[in-house]
Amino acid sequence: MQRVAVISLHTSPLTQPGSGDSGGMNVYVRELVSSLAQAGVECTTFTRADRPDVPEVVQIEPNHRVVHVHAGPYDLRKEELPSVIDEFTAGVRRHLDGEFPADVLHANYWLSGEVAHRLKHERDLPFAITFHTLARVKAEGGDPEPDWRVEAEDRIIGCADAISVNCDEEERQFRRLYGDPPGRIEVVAPAVEHAFFAPGDRRGARRALGVAADRPMVLFVGRIQPLKGPDVAVRALAAMRRTDAQLLVVGGASGADGTREVGHLEHLIDELGVRDRVRFVPPQPHHILSTYYRAADAVVVPSRSESFGLVALEAAACGVPVVASAVGGLLSLVDHAHTGYLVADRDPDCFAAHLDHLVEHPLAAAAMGHRAHERSLHYTWGMAAVRLRRLYADLTVRELVACR
Ligand code: UDP
Repeated sequence: MQRVAVISLHTSPLTQPGSGDSGGMNVYVRELVSSLAQAGVECTTFTRADRPDVPEVVQIEPNHRVVHVHAGPYDLRKEELPSVIDEFTAGVRRHLDGEFPADVLHANYWLSGEVAHRLKHERDLPFAITFHTLARVKAEGGDPEPDWRVEAEDRIIGCADAISVNCDEEERQFRRLYGDPPGRIEVVAPAVEHAFFAPGDRRGARRALGVAADRPMVLFVGRIQPLKGPDVAVRALAAMRRTDAQLLVVGGASGADGTREVGHLEHLIDELGVRDRVRFVPPQPHHILSTYYRAADAVVVPSRSESFGLVALEAAACGVPVVASAVGGLLSLVDHAHTGYLVADRDPDCFAAHLDHLVEHPLAAAAMGHRAHERSLHYTWGMAAVRLRRLYADLTVRELVACR
């Protein structure tokens, strides 16, 4: 039986996504590890204990447990986490040497990559990494990261036995910005749980949410921070011809700039005179989001950069067209003018024109949503787990990449 140690230092798969440091990566780790466990892989996810009231080991299902490792005070900010990498690594090492041994390590995000890198050398184990975001990619989108993060990622890339990317577009982008790594690059597309995210009755969904049935509704889902572009969603709403359209923003402040971004949005909403057309909804449990998607005429994803864009896939699975920025993984997810629209340069007027078109041509929009749904069916967590199992099997029989 394969045994994998999944490392997710900075955020727990048990945390509610949609605000703070919790988003797509939490969903990715939880769903993917669950699929691996169901396929018979023995999975232990290591995350940092960030609250006093969680047990050290939480057994999620057969073959799948989350271990909370004590490293630093509970309430550390994300920017402070590099200081606890050594302590966290020591905690994981104790478990690997004790009750939860592993044959392969799978790190998520660069902080966990630092941990896996150390453990690889200490225990002679192969490691795979999914970065989720990369400093050079963020810099290209206008969100530069400090040099030390860039250097840390370079070190990890120079020793990783495998780098898992979400789509071909991310692989191309990775090779352009980082060159060919010594380890292999493996495309493992994230997915959506189709049992929950499926087309449904729009009127019923709107009734459930208390949203007017006779006004167009545009939906934004995600962490509120500049990278995600909620301001573009508000500007697009204000630029729509349909002045009765409303915007629902589901999610909460995230990251160092999150609270400032919420203030900025509030200001923008007043400045553009759309106060009575925007509704903020606090982060919602993941599976409940399907009701929000079903209620929407269209979902906007105006991110500056996006390694994949789970929200776009979830909307598609619910049969709702997406209007998204033409960046990163969204280029793979949205087939322009077929399953949704891609917008260059995050131009609010262009977003607005596509949104108006969808609202004013409901039959064409429904056909687009239908095609989006069909396409989403290619993305299953089971398929992602199959690819990872093959990758893990391969890594355990190959020579380890020599550290660059
Ligand atoms: N999400 C959620 N509840 C919320 C808001 C978001 O469960 O209130 C989930 C959403 O369904 C998606 C994830 O958070 O699965 C966000 O992933 P995405 O890839 O779109 O963005 P990221 O957070 O990775 O930047």
